[in-house]
Amino acid sequence: MTQDVLKGSFDCIIVGAGHGGCQTAAALRQAGFEGSIALLGAEPEVPYDRPSLSKEYLAGKKTFERMHLRPQDFWSSRNVELVLGGRVVAADPLAKTVTLENGARYSYRYLVWAAGGEPRKLACPGSTLSGIFYIRSKADCDALLAVLPDVSKVAIIGGGYVGLEAAAVFRELGKDVVLVEALDRVLARVAAEPISRFYEREHRNHGVEIRLNSGVKAILERDGRANGVLLESGEPLAADIVVVGIGIVPSAAPLLAAGAQGGNGVDVDEYCRTSLPDVYCVGDCAKLVNGPGIRIESVQNATDQATTAAKTICGNFKAYDALPWFWSNQYDLKLQTIGLNFGYDDAVVRGEPASRSFSLVYLKKGAVIALDCVNSPRDYVQGRKLVEAHAKLGSVQLANISKQLKELTFETN
Ligand code: FAD
Repeated sequence: MTQDVLKGSFDCIIVGAGHGGCQTAAALRQAGFEGSIALLGAEPEVPYDRPSLSKEYLAGKKTFERMHLRPQDFWSSRNVELVLGGRVVAADPLAKTVTLENGARYSYRYLVWAAGGEPRKLACPGSTLSGIFYIRSKADCDALLAVLPDVSKVAIIGGGYVGLEAAAVFRELGKDVVLVEALDRVLARVAAEPISRFYEREHRNHGVEIRLNSGVKAILERDGRANGVLLESGEPLAADIVVVGIGIVPSAAPLLAAGAQGGNGVDVDEYCRTSLPDVYCVGDCAKLVNGPGIRIESVQNATDQATTAAKTICGNFKAYDALPWFWSNQYDLKLQTIGLNFGYDDAVVRGEPASRSFSLVYLKKGAVIALDCVNSPRDYVQGRKLVEAHAKLGSVQLANISKQLKELTFETN
């Protein structure tokens, strides 16, 4: 039965109890916000660490209890009301209310939208069959883990971070894996070619069959279940299950329907303010229009934007200018990324990829803008300073591993 009642009034309502939402609540309290706070989350579980899903949790190496973002008593001790298991379906910026799918309404003074994203779904024939899995939530992962013991072969669609991390876990669990990527290299949207080729080689060396330049025409079916992938070339690839990692669609529909500017996410300024009064947006679904004009999908971005939004609400205006960082774990390889390589015009390999410890330094107009560091924590730490300084360095200097990055002398922009 649907109710349409005002269930509560809060000084701040946060929609989405993921990385951005939780940090918003914590940062508000840290900044001295004394008003009432409600954190409304669609998932029923206590807030948890999402990156672990495609890594240790899928591998059975980490229990859910170890993934909680905050200790059990954190929320009550900070006087934050958790309302879990209900999706916000509408926002009314004039009445300053949000409505859950069960009809319950809540009113706010400030609204922070931190709803992340939903996995982009396959749209080809067979895409709604059972036996097709996504990895975005604990529920997604649990559904996959429930069938995994009976699976010998997995077809993965998508050679991005999630698909590759899952491939590594499946190989470690002894499953056969075929990975299908539409473009001509893995990680094509996020990294330059040397990183793509390195990971392609690594996965092949670990026994993953990788199919590049391969669009998916349909999901194969047997007994009403997914049974592999039919490539656009007409080639069938048999598999017991299909795992899809082809990106996300930002969860922004209710806010956009309420009149917030945006499209692929919600447009925000450098204080994480949307075009609606007293409405903020952070994390995967926020698009910084005054910065690079893109959405950034990372824990760092969600956390730092949340802090910015919380401070702004408390009257402490400090523009978001955090340096992006990211990581990915595959096999015994730890990739650490610092900076944004967006718009790079040169990329210098530092070290020997065959040694499985090297870095890729991205340059734009001669200045260092980002690094991808594979099993190379020293370059990651020292490279951060180069990115922060917009260090002007030549490719010969950067490629010379007899010198540490911190020893290089440079001009700045
Ligand atoms: P989320 O953490 O997704 O939280 C949003 C929450 O809002 C969700 O719980 C969702 O259910 C809820 N929600 C959505 N719509 C509504 C609604 N209408 N009403 C109420 N609640 C709603 N990042 C890294 O930096 N490093 C990594 O190694 C890494 N690995 C990843 C591995 C996987 C498998 C995935 C899925 C992501 C990974 N990421 C990684 C990305 C990172 O997890 C996200 O960037 C981060 O979680 C974004 O935080 P967020 O708060 O914006 O969104």
